[in-house]
Amino acid sequence: MSKHRCTRRAYFRLTDAGAGSLLLSSCGLKKEQDSHQPKAGNREKPKHIITLSFDDGFKKSSIRTAQIYEKYNLSACINIVATAGLKTFNPPGEYIAGSDRGDFDLWNELKQRGHEVMPHSYKHANLRQLPLAEAKDLIRRCLDYFSKELKGFDAKKAVFNFPYNSSTPELESWLPTQTKAFRTGGGAINPLPHAGQVKLTCTGYGPGNCEKDIEANIAQLLGRDSGWLIYNTHGLDGEGWGPITSGFLDKLLERLTAIKSVAVMPAGKALSQFSTV
Ligand SMILES: [Zn+2]
Repeated sequence: MSKHRCTRRAYFRLTDAGAGSLLLSSCGLKKEQDSHQPKAGNREKPKHIITLSFDDGFKKSSIRTAQIYEKYNLSACINIVATAGLKTFNPPGEYIAGSDRGDFDLWNELKQRGHEVMPHSYKHANLRQLPLAEAKDLIRRCLDYFSKELKGFDAKKAVFNFPYNSSTPELESWLPTQTKAFRTGGGAINPLPHAGQVKLTCTGYGPGNCEKDIEANIAQLLGRDSGWLIYNTHGLDGEGWGPITSGFLDKLLERLTAIKSVAVMPAGKALSQFSTV
């Protein structure tokens, strides 16, 4: 795809391309030595890590997101609701109800192409509003479902992304016995990955377009010596809560991959690659 200016015309061209490309390409990511991400064997920690953490597993948006990340040889961070692809799924709100959601055929395909697919709950219940035993049970069922359906899934390497970024102290202290880490609400800028880091916090903006808020958070990150920005995004081109356009994402990744101090990475990969260096 050629480079685009953020014109209205370019926006529609990109949108059309997204709608017309629901069949998956099999290109995936190139070998790591070609990537903008830190090279294999080069374990030097980047000064700034940026994770756009895409929630809710919208089919069209997830396919388009993966394609745009692949253009820059990057892995997308996609967090999905275990049962959202089932006909029996009861969407908890209009922003999830309004669009088609992917299934594990798609998630396995995207994972195989080098993207990160992580749990975003069993059925998108607000776990803070449930009795502790029920919340734990839903998390266990979510992780069991992933173990059964997502090839190569290992809960001990997973990041659990709380629905509504809504956790409790009890769940936060219990979750590290089940997963490597969890993402919940809080400050957008985390310390760089380090040993023992189990709580990742993020921000987001909605229900309207969140591009200005992303830009403001990136400017804050780059104004610091170092840090790890985790920003909770959802869908593209009008899909989901607080969407961005595919044209914006494309230009943003183009810009970020040109900045030497920045690595754009999914959360689990950032932890596994840099929490011990
Ligand atoms: Zn969600």
